Amino acid sequence: MKKRFLTLMVVSWFLTMLGGGTAMAKDAGGIGIIVVDVQGDFTQHKNGSLAVEGTDEAYVGMVDETTKKLKAAGYPIYATQDWHPADHASFFTNHPDKKPFDVIQLHGKDQVLWPPHCVQNTPGAEILLDTALFTAVVQKGMDTNYDSYSGFQDDGGKKTRMEEILKKDGIKKLVVYGIATDYCVHATAVDGAAAGYKVIMINSLSRGVAPDTSKKALEDMKAKGILVLEDLDMEKVKAF
Ligand SMILES: [Zn+2]
Repeated sequence: MKKRFLTLMVVSWFLTMLGGGTAMAKDAGGIGIIVVDVQGDFTQHKNGSLAVEGTDEAYVGMVDETTKKLKAAGYPIYATQDWHPADHASFFTNHPDKKPFDVIQLHGKDQVLWPPHCVQNTPGAEILLDTALFTAVVQKGMDTNYDSYSGFQDDGGKKTRMEEILKKDGIKKLVVYGIATDYCVHATAVDGAAAGYKVIMINSLSRGVAPDTSKKALEDMKAKGILVLEDLDMEKVKAF
């Protein structure tokens, strides 16, 4: 009985060490991982309403496996989650006579009209990775009137919780991947760099809506000082 109690103590100590928020981030050299919008509605795997090319079961499995390895290596993992009310301005269904992928002007900016997606508390909004992986999940796009590709702020400039969380955890460098290269991954990486983080984007762990916009997004990220790596290489990440 005593032995069992000791084992329990050791296990709980070990779990405390594993889950040790700020201390863990320091051990990880200030590197944090942001997994962008790996949600049912963006994947072919879940037959999502806005499924991005190349997001089959193998893709989701690869992202899951890589993220688990990074977590096991001690890096804190953050997720972004598109989380819209049903009457969101980015849905074509909320604009009369519009079709999916039409572009309108919204608050003076081009706004792509998407099929309804990631509606709060629907299966399509669920993150497909084990949520126990995440130190924090940052939701975005809750304001009906503004879209929010970036994990840091919406198109109206309203900040999410992201910067506050990263600051608290002592994060200085971000590894970013997920869906979609040309929208939310791009916007999150660019805003991360603008906020003073060193940002590394992993192309093979990301998927884009369209080849031309994805190519442009990669070029724009490079021009803004973001390191674009084809494959995840933590030695390159550490050296950047
Ligand atoms: Zn959205």
